[in-house]
Amino acid sequence: YFMDAVTSTVKDNADFIPPFGKGSLYIRPICFGVSKAIDVQAATEYVFMVFTSPVGPYFKVGSRPLHLYLSDKYHRAAPKGIGNAKAIGNYSASLYPGSVAKSKGFNDMIYVHAKNEKIIEEMGAANLFVLSDGELLTPKLGGSILDGVTRDSVITIARDILNLTVKETDIEIERLLSADEVFCTGTAVVVTPVGSITGLDGKHRIADEKMGRLTFKLKEMLTGIQHENIPDEFGWLYPIKE
Ligand SMILES: *Cc1c(COP(=O)(O)O)cnc(C)c1O
Repeated sequence: YFMDAVTSTVKDNADFIPPFGKGSLYIRPICFGVSKAIDVQAATEYVFMVFTSPVGPYFKVGSRPLHLYLSDKYHRAAPKGIGNAKAIGNYSASLYPGSVAKSKGFNDMIYVHAKNEKIIEEMGAANLFVLSDGELLTPKLGGSILDGVTRDSVITIARDILNLTVKETDIEIERLLSADEVFCTGTAVVVTPVGSITGLDGKHRIADEKMGRLTFKLKEMLTGIQHENIPDEFGWLYPIKE
């Protein structure tokens, strides 16, 4: 049912697919409750729809490194909550902190763990990776981080193709700030490098205007598989026939 809805929506919107290399057709499946009720309760009726739109890059800076703001003043999601769901409620908590970061001139915000503020979680809508001492690290899933498909693809490429050690673990702020490379992942951001992180104690430079070598490699491999320039050994592609 789900795949039928996605494939038929994509087929119906084929005219809006940007020319090869110029963008993509973003697909967003949405589900929301519509049953009549005035009290707070779970809905008994739902609308499921598939929304598509042609898109260019998510961040205006393109693939130039991002400047991020790290603060323990706001939390995005808490353990034992719903931070692991792609649910609208999670974004209410991140819109104001995100606008604070933007008003200070940053591209986005890095959130720390709500219970242990010494470790990092993710951004408003992207997962984080850190290259440190030759190991690729990403915060472990614990219910308050979104289990992103791009996170999963990057872990698979790094482990199975590049033979890197990848650890899903707790990452302390100090380890993040002294990393060799930092990047974020998401369907919209794909793999985007982080150039600097400004924390409670000032600005930390991670990279200059050039993308780190591993960040570049991972982005090249993921987009290479998506564009069919690199063979898809993992069965990720889903061809849609006319
Ligand atoms: C969407 C999203 C991501 C990235 O997930 P993908 O499945 O890779 O698109 C990461 N974190 C949050 C909070 C998100 O909403």
